[in-house]
Amino acid sequence: MVDLTGQYLRLKPEIDEAMQQVLNRGDYINGAAVKNFSNALAGYLETDYVVPCANGTDALQAALMALNLTRGDEVITSAFSFVSTVEVIVLLGLKPVFVDIDPDTYNIDTDAIRNALTERTRVVVPVHLFGQPAQMDEIMEIALSHNLYVVEDGAQSMGASCMVRGNQYKAGTVGHIGCTSFFPTKNLGCFGDGGACFTNDEQLAGRLKMIMNHGARKKYFNEIIGMNSRLDTLQAAVLSEKLTHLDDFIDRRRSASRIYLEGLKDVSELNLPHQTEQSTHTFNQFTVRVLDGKRDELKQFLAHEGIPSMVYYPFPLHRQPAFEVLSKGDLHLPESELACIEVLSLPMHTEMTEAQQEYIIQRIKMFFGK
Ligand SMILES: *Cc1c(COP(=O)(O)O)cnc(C)c1O
Repeated sequence: MVDLTGQYLRLKPEIDEAMQQVLNRGDYINGAAVKNFSNALAGYLETDYVVPCANGTDALQAALMALNLTRGDEVITSAFSFVSTVEVIVLLGLKPVFVDIDPDTYNIDTDAIRNALTERTRVVVPVHLFGQPAQMDEIMEIALSHNLYVVEDGAQSMGASCMVRGNQYKAGTVGHIGCTSFFPTKNLGCFGDGGACFTNDEQLAGRLKMIMNHGARKKYFNEIIGMNSRLDTLQAAVLSEKLTHLDDFIDRRRSASRIYLEGLKDVSELNLPHQTEQSTHTFNQFTVRVLDGKRDELKQFLAHEGIPSMVYYPFPLHRQPAFEVLSKGDLHLPESELACIEVLSLPMHTEMTEAQQEYIIQRIKMFFGK
């Protein structure tokens, strides 16, 4: 699915050097590289504050903790996502309100957000799934008119951008807080776990920093309940190097996506990724819909031909045993449920060759008898 070793080998001299510098200094915790990386990322994103942390799930949890919410407050989010988004909502005693997705983009349906609003709604958490931002323009409008916070789950959308009120913004910098993950397979990945929150709000940035550091601004003086969530200096050093290549990584993913789009355009049994005009897609995943109930069969066929593929995601969150009890099992979100049956993500990474893609395209066509 991804070729992390190939990318490392291509960038080896500079990454090894960056890691070696950390080893030489021995500043493993909150070392110089952490600050350098945070500043560089803030510059790249054109956002005021980047608060690094241990992983993307922590980033989401800290974001919700920073907002001063009350138990039982409602958080509207997409039912078609990775589990982190809703896990932290429930852990904090907040109430997740699952809404359906737009079948073309797999992102949260803005009409569904409107329909889910109640007096207890305090936050909307859009997920920029597969590398394409949700409709932030409309989401911000809904949030503004209902006095809601917006926390963006940008774990898959690093480097993507979207139009809001006629201006281009990097995904994750539009809402009150943006969250990301540096898990190795994300667009900007480290060699283990890492994450960050972004914000343009100085007060929120201060709270986030405190939360990541046991609720303390001053050592051994804990003002609020926090977490222990740090980005390792070694990971920050790797990320600093990789950040200088991020636009190239994204270009490579986009080129690969164009080859798939062109090669598969006549396969009527597939729905190919739909790119909206208001946003740029960074193809963290290249996800197709396989029609006529053939998804699992195609996946098996590809595996037999030596081609990996993945189902992101096989179950909608409201049907996961851990969360089903919340809706007593009677919530029905048809688009999310259908997506779980039809989606298939094809190999997509920064080191793909045309030959690999031609082979994948040819085998997919063969499966459909073309
Ligand atoms: C990867 C991911 C996360 C969590 O990131 P971790 O760093 O693994 O905790 C959260 N949300 C989405 C949509 C993700 O893809």
